[in-house]
Amino acid sequence: MRTLIFCDFDGTATDQDAQQAIMTHFTGDAWRPINRAWTRGEVTTAHRAAVQWGLVQANTADVQRFVIAAVDFTPGFREFARWCRDQGHALHILSDGFDLYIDPLLAREGLADWPRTVNHLTLDGGEPRFRFQHQDPACDRCGNCKRWVIQRAREAHPGARVVYLGDGVSDLCPAQAADVVLARRALLARCRETGLSCHPFDDFCSVRAVLESL
Ligand SMILES: [Mg+2]
Repeated sequence: MRTLIFCDFDGTATDQDAQQAIMTHFTGDAWRPINRAWTRGEVTTAHRAAVQWGLVQANTADVQRFVIAAVDFTPGFREFARWCRDQGHALHILSDGFDLYIDPLLAREGLADWPRTVNHLTLDGGEPRFRFQHQDPACDRCGNCKRWVIQRAREAHPGARVVYLGDGVSDLCPAQAADVVLARRALLARCRETGLSCHPFDDFCSVRAVLESL
């Protein structure tokens, strides 16, 4: 059976949330109130991004230098990506974050051309410019509707098994569209609250062990 693996980026592929690390470094705590509103579902990703990235007094190169030095991947990610390729599993990075920091981090790991669907951001002279992927007109919460991407993949690969990996509250929606869910942190709590079956994970050795047991 063909296996399609969709992996959130911030806090899942990476150990810490890269976007939050950027915000704390460049804005202190100024980013937190709008992030709390977003977590409560009161504002969209696009609105949060305009407020948060508008606070960052830096350009694209400054932010990329910072993340390359400061952000680590979750242990085992690079080996897991290569194992997926060897096994014929389609591993796809699926993020409501931005290429500005995701692309250089993947490149640092030797995964520059890895399949991904993410939002676009540049900071020219401190002015953020966004392009959001696949906003759902019926639900504008996310800039990149992960559920929409998963549904398109199912249509392209009938009968495939869909695996979703995530860590945050916004991962519950795409997790509900998957056949197998691996969860940690806030997503694990949300799965337990809502009764969604999932496998907890701490690193990509445990993710691989779950996939090998299916
Ligand atoms: Mg995340």
